[in-house]
Amino acid sequence: MEEFELIEYIRQKFPRSKSAKGLLLPIGDDCSVIRPPANFLQVTTADSLVEGNHFSIKYFAPKDIGRKAIRVNISDMASMGACAPYYAWLTFAIPQNMKDKTMKGIIEGIKADCGKYKVTLAGGNITSATQFSIHVTLTGWVKRQKFLTRSGAKAGDCVFVTGSIGASTLAYKQFKEGRKPEPFLLKRWALPQPKPEIGVFLAEKKIANSCIDISDGIFQDIRHITRSSEVGAVLEWAKIPINPTLKKRNVTPEMIGFGEDYELLFTVPPKRVKLLAPVMKDITQIGRIVESGSDVEVIDKKGNRMDVSNIGFHHFT
Ligand code: ADP
Ligand code: MG
Repeated sequence: MEEFELIEYIRQKFPRSKSAKGLLLPIGDDCSVIRPPANFLQVTTADSLVEGNHFSIKYFAPKDIGRKAIRVNISDMASMGACAPYYAWLTFAIPQNMKDKTMKGIIEGIKADCGKYKVTLAGGNITSATQFSIHVTLTGWVKRQKFLTRSGAKAGDCVFVTGSIGASTLAYKQFKEGRKPEPFLLKRWALPQPKPEIGVFLAEKKIANSCIDISDGIFQDIRHITRSSEVGAVLEWAKIPINPTLKKRNVTPEMIGFGEDYELLFTVPPKRVKLLAPVMKDITQIGRIVESGSDVEVIDKKGNRMDVSNIGFHHFT
């Protein structure tokens, strides 16, 4: 498809929905125009999916590539506690040999998850490139002063994560080693399960005092919280909810700390922990925040310190 054909194809696939009342000017003009909901602040993120890093055209179904492009951005919204109606801007960088069928599959996936997460496509861009990539900008909303950041953790807080860790990371590692990822790991890498309901719950009820989504690895990402909050953290290795599909293996921090989990990691003052009851089945306490100076420590069952200092995804190495 040519550029304008593709834009027209997308425009027809994403008719303006009645629920997106705030979208005053949809796809078709130089810019979109949105009216923010009264008394909300705008929260915006941008995330890119690059072939060979965040997905593999060879191993992912096209539909899953599209869905993942939306989900990694929803995960950022979740970490801030930002709620729907979400608006998305979608940029494709497309090589000449890209098949129409693949593009249509990807767009199908984007449409599916726009429906699932209440996202309205507001615009975007198309450009040619030597390598295929997708770039999504997403906007959501928070009630005034009710957004989560990385910087509010205090010594004594409990550290929690949602869902499970490690399966996606391991699929990615197998892929990078030149192997076809095992099917159940691949499924998790292709289709992350972001947790916007939990992020919004933690923010609106003012339960968490810091939050991040785990995209570059659990040990690296918690360090963003400890550094921003000027505190340290002690995690218990045995409490980290390793994905059940990995249970039979001899799991090491290295195996699970490489990123692509898209779960939430957040801190809660002890007095507020009881407020977590409605989401307790979806979360696990993995450690505590401590006074600054100790950075992030992971302790094994015997009380020995495990070295996790260099584990995590690095974009430029
Ligand atoms: P311009 O040349 O002014 O950048 P374009 O011709 O690129 O405009 O885009 C025309 C319209 O189509 C704009 O409203 C733009 O937001 C929309 N659009 C372009 N690419 C995409 C896309 N990949 N997804 C959704 N909307 C798109
Ligand atoms: Mg223009």
